[in-house]
Amino acid sequence: MFHRLAPVLSLVAIAPLMQAANGDLTTLVNNGSSANRVDIVYMGDGYTADQQATYATQVNQMNSAMFDAGYFSWKVDPFPRYAKFFNVHRIEVVSAQSGADDPSTNTYVNTALGATYAYQGGSQRTLYINETEANKLLPHNTGKGFVADIRMVTVNASSYGGAAINYAVYSAGYFAATEIAMHEMGHSFGKLEDEYGGIASAFPGAEPDRVNVTKDPTGAKWQRWMGYNDPRTGVVGVYEGGDGYNTGIYHPSADSKMNNLNKAFDPIAKEQFISRIYDFVRPIDAHLDNLGTLTDPTKLWVKSVDAQLFTFEWFVDGTLIAGATGEEFDPSLFGLSAGLHTIKAKVSDLTDMVRDAAILAKMTQEVSWTVNLVAVPEPAAYAGASLAFSALCLIRRRKRARA
Ligand SMILES: [Zn+2]
Repeated sequence: MFHRLAPVLSLVAIAPLMQAANGDLTTLVNNGSSANRVDIVYMGDGYTADQQATYATQVNQMNSAMFDAGYFSWKVDPFPRYAKFFNVHRIEVVSAQSGADDPSTNTYVNTALGATYAYQGGSQRTLYINETEANKLLPHNTGKGFVADIRMVTVNASSYGGAAINYAVYSAGYFAATEIAMHEMGHSFGKLEDEYGGIASAFPGAEPDRVNVTKDPTGAKWQRWMGYNDPRTGVVGVYEGGDGYNTGIYHPSADSKMNNLNKAFDPIAKEQFISRIYDFVRPIDAHLDNLGTLTDPTKLWVKSVDAQLFTFEWFVDGTLIAGATGEEFDPSLFGLSAGLHTIKAKVSDLTDMVRDAAILAKMTQEVSWTVNLVAVPEPAAYAGASLAFSALCLIRRRKRARA
């Protein structure tokens, strides 16, 4: 009997050691090196040791809503299109007590990140955390070797609440939690402003640096989109109100997620998100080494972040090569003459969600190789690279062999 019990006893003894510790990190989605991805890091607050499964489930729900929304992807566009540009991680955060502080009901609980409603005297729904405590758990502060580009905090609370400074914080138990989270992430990662008013006076500040509000009643800031009729958010124009003020400030659409939950992001916000994504990600992850001259390479290649999303163009000595439209290029297929050539790959994201030239520039990347072709095939035989010419070439070669 003793021998049969012993393994069971030792398992029980080990179990507490296997529990996650604060700061432990689980990578939920790994699309590539963090050096060329937007890293989303989730933390939880107000989840006790017994509630960690709830935390994990709520993180998964948010991740699905953001990248895998199916029919409802319009609520989170442009994120589904750029899913492969992101990695997603969850950090274990165990609180002594459950929930969040709520001064309106005299509720005060001991949680790891100190989440509270009415944060710093704000409105009741302003739910935010102690950033100093959260910062201690960030990957680059705990030896995980990468920086959290998007910081999300799910709070184990069900009353409507959220806010954003450096973290996007939201009450994960609220029925529209994912909508709050997307709006708050629009502030923190997207650097977008609220498009709603509220205070019945004129906006008192200087011209905001945010791209979706302006004091200029002509809306010059989003001139490139003016009049564009977005199927979800209406005609881009100049709508008074924004950043919590009713007058003296303007926003670009009749309604959007920076104004109301369950709306789409408007064209200005979508373009801004794409710009922010490309602040962290370049189109090309890797490419064939181009430091020296390559002699008769059989294949030039680039590896892009998402081959489904990009347009690939190949140029030889500046001339676009028709028919070369993938991540790989075989110089022997295109009838090139012997000698030195410069071959260039151009990888472009040609989405119609971006119109700003400076942003478009970030969405294109080029790589060039110097290639020396020595053992080139007969140019006439290979002109056009068609099957017919290949067959002709074979015939010619046979004739010559006989001669
Ligand atoms: Zn807001």
